[in-house]
Amino acid sequence: MGKRVRKVIKAQHPASYTQVDPMRGVKSIAGIRIYDVGQGDAICVLDQDRKPFLQIDYGGKYSNPFASNDKVDERMPLKNVRLIMLTHWDEDHWCSASKNTLSKQRAWLVPRQRTSPRAALFSATLSQAYCVPETDVGKSIFFQAQNGDRVVFQKIAHMPEPTHEEDCNATGIAFAVENGNSVILLPGDASYDQVELFDNLVTSGKSLHAIVAFHHGSRRHWTTATHKYLRRWSALKPPGTVVFSYGKGNPYRHPRQENYRSSLSGWQHLLTPDLRGHGQSHEDILF
Ligand SMILES: [Zn+2]
Repeated sequence: MGKRVRKVIKAQHPASYTQVDPMRGVKSIAGIRIYDVGQGDAICVLDQDRKPFLQIDYGGKYSNPFASNDKVDERMPLKNVRLIMLTHWDEDHWCSASKNTLSKQRAWLVPRQRTSPRAALFSATLSQAYCVPETDVGKSIFFQAQNGDRVVFQKIAHMPEPTHEEDCNATGIAFAVENGNSVILLPGDASYDQVELFDNLVTSGKSLHAIVAFHHGSRRHWTTATHKYLRRWSALKPPGTVVFSYGKGNPYRHPRQENYRSSLSGWQHLLTPDLRGHGQSHEDILF
């Protein structure tokens, strides 16, 4: 098999975090909203009035629920969203944005990655796209609400040399949403134990409220370290929610719920295909 063609994302401006800060007028963080997008994920962070102000991923590839482009706007409105961020540039995490006219008018803050030509082409159509500079890799960066609630994020690893194939799952951005002492982890497709920010959170004595299953609940990259990491939380906390965002009948055989049953025993599982079954486009997880 030949080498895949890879292109670098065109978000040229290093981030000016104060310029893109989406927290203006946000008093506190109520929780997150999980959209059913089929295979992929799309999550937004909610303010005190349960209005979304920050969008994290805007995917939906295989088995997405969007019969036409205007359904994307309708089901995942960006009206109040001030900033769109991506965990990484795999298509199942951004492809609905190319169907939503509002998305291009928003500010974007993304990881700079060497990825598919389609993603690079799309990134070039964004007028306000900022990237997390490589000098910030490993740093915890945050946006803060008036009461101190925060969205914390970290670019997990450096973009490798051009001679090396980039695993975008492992070099993207991971997120934690904090309300007081309670936290929700949004890892994208990276395993929790690869994210230093997540390690710091469990050490700092926070309590885990909900977690999105990394890589749509895939068994790939699930190791003893993953299990051990999750056990550190469950030792401290009453059961919370594990979210599995995926498309029903997907060819990757996502998700593998058994892993989570053993690591976070007693936790409730929220499956995005079930939302569609109940006629819902989303479900809120509130603190
Ligand atoms: Zn994915």
